[in-house]
Amino acid sequence: MDPNNEEPLAVVRASSWPSLFDCAYKWYWQNLMGLRSPSGGAAALGTAVHAGTAAYDQQILDGKFAQIIDAVDVARDALANPRDEVLWDDGLTPNEADALAVKLTSRYCAEVAPTRTYTAVELQCTALDIATQHGVVRVTGTTDRVRQLEDGRKGISDVKTGGRATEKTATGGRRAVTKGHHIQLGIYTLMAEQASGERMEGPAEIIGLQTTKDTPCATGEISDVKTPLLGDGKFPGLIEIAAGMLKSGVFPPNPKSMLCSAKYCPAHASHCKYHD
Ligand code: SF4
Repeated sequence: MDPNNEEPLAVVRASSWPSLFDCAYKWYWQNLMGLRSPSGGAAALGTAVHAGTAAYDQQILDGKFAQIIDAVDVARDALANPRDEVLWDDGLTPNEADALAVKLTSRYCAEVAPTRTYTAVELQCTALDIATQHGVVRVTGTTDRVRQLEDGRKGISDVKTGGRATEKTATGGRRAVTKGHHIQLGIYTLMAEQASGERMEGPAEIIGLQTTKDTPCATGEISDVKTPLLGDGKFPGLIEIAAGMLKSGVFPPNPKSMLCSAKYCPAHASHCKYHD
């Protein structure tokens, strides 16, 4: 089947894939029916840190002199002028978020950026069409970073902020929490391969920037992010399963989701009868 000649079943934003496999019914209302809820302060902080760190890495990629103070300014400006409405009801005040944006952006630029060689920053993918037995799924989105390892392989790096973005290791060190991020990283990997025309043979990586007082930063790798998405011939990949949902129009609810609440689900009060 040539995916180029087929109308897609749906256009799926790369960042929404984890939500599809958390509660598909919520995903349906948010992504196909356009139900929106304002984002909280934590999400606004994440967007701001992404903007600041990306500006810093892009300067380096362009061969320019990158200054941490400029990256911090970009992050603070993004926080002060959010594109979407922000509801500061998640325990974070604008002043606290501003202080964290300064700290996290500075730490990333001083501690993480110098240890990485990126070949792309915020790599846009306008349309990746993936053929399945149910039809074509079109994926769009932006890959945070493509990094080059010392052995020449390339892999995806994705910046994640959050209160539990890092965890202690058994040996007393710290690593980024990677659990549950493989779906998104897999999609980013496929998008980056299409946008760059190169295979991503290196491990995918999370760069965790934690929004707690000490602002710990750490990285963590996931070696195989493609098999869960693409399957291996013996079991269907998650993209095949998603295409089945899109084709059938059946989006199972998950009232046991950690995010099943009025705060995190815009369908909770208005459209969903499946929760308690
Ligand atoms: S209220 Fe719960 S079960 Fe219903 S759509 Fe939202 S997350 Fe899913």
